[in-house]
Amino acid sequence: MTPKRHSTKTDKSPNARLMSDPDIPIPATARVKLDRAALVANWNALNHMSGKAKAGAAVKANAYGLGVRDVVQYLLAAGCEDFFVANWQEAREIDDLTSGRASVSVLNGVRAADLPFARQSSAKPVLNSLEQLQRWRPTGRTCDIMINSGMNRLGINLEDLSQQLFAGLTIDIAMSHLASADEDGPQNGDQLARYRTALEIVPAGRTSLANSAGIALGSDYHFDITRPGLGLYGGIQRPELEGTITQVAIPQAEIIQIRTLQAGDKLGYNAQYIAERAHPVGILAMGYADGYLRGFSNRGIFLHKDIKLPVLGRVSMDLIAIDLSAASGLEEGDWVDCNYDLPTASTQSGLSQYELITGLGNRLPRHWT
Ligand SMILES: *Cc1c(COP(=O)(O)O)cnc(C)c1O
Repeated sequence: MTPKRHSTKTDKSPNARLMSDPDIPIPATARVKLDRAALVANWNALNHMSGKAKAGAAVKANAYGLGVRDVVQYLLAAGCEDFFVANWQEAREIDDLTSGRASVSVLNGVRAADLPFARQSSAKPVLNSLEQLQRWRPTGRTCDIMINSGMNRLGINLEDLSQQLFAGLTIDIAMSHLASADEDGPQNGDQLARYRTALEIVPAGRTSLANSAGIALGSDYHFDITRPGLGLYGGIQRPELEGTITQVAIPQAEIIQIRTLQAGDKLGYNAQYIAERAHPVGILAMGYADGYLRGFSNRGIFLHKDIKLPVLGRVSMDLIAIDLSAASGLEEGDWVDCNYDLPTASTQSGLSQYELITGLGNRLPRHWT
């Protein structure tokens, strides 16, 4: 509804009802720069590392926060044909892009409440329980299934498997999911053995076990389709992926104020930084509301070219202070990059690489280059 302007008030009144012009641009003070070439290179590298298997892509949670429609379009163009989302809302969001061009699997399965949408969707559920098998059978449509090989989250237990269980179902992918692929303990081999046992019973069109880290475990883990997520977006969970996976997302912020601290000056909430000498600081319009969490207080780094600009004091909701001592030529209005290389930022903040990439806030526009 368009609000009406009050003819009884003049525009000089402080309460005059002025309509803002939606066409006047408001330049952002912070954003996330996203590198399409790096995303595609990461998918190609993981596809190559998958050997005889073909790499799909986990694009749940808005493609780990980067923007699912852009990511799906770029990966479709690169040759990706299998996408994995968490729920039916996420499937609907990419339906016009993927319908007739790629397979979309809904990892969280199908509840009774999902059926009205799911039965006419081009996406397919990953059936996670005996109840879900029963629920889906009358639709006559294709599905995937999840085997619980030891993670004990979603999936059908080995003990419950039998050939007649799947009568009347058309199964595309029979998958399982690794719980500790980023580690070298015995759980990977245990899960692999249990998954292989299950495949002797399940009549599947295609098989799939590995996430990003699982791809690096070698050809035993590849099967027909791999399901990288984090690695596509620049996460490195195993040493084998170092030097292969490159950074995709770089938060950037404008310096909105510069001031000079004197020796003894306190900075930010609870004075978590006190200057020992006079030096300049830059104030950036980004904070924990944007996903740059307080774990980066006094630990995070921003960059101007190769010059490091450490975060000083506590990260606020909307603001961060950085040390400009090493780059005194910077001015208000200049932009700096956040050091958000995921392995490094994870060490700095104590957050996981998954939390870092999925946590980037909606206030930051996504800017693909
Ligand atoms: C999220 C997810 C993936 C992708 O995992 P990454 O560790 O991000 O590569 C693969 N398979 C399933 C079932 C998932 O839930």
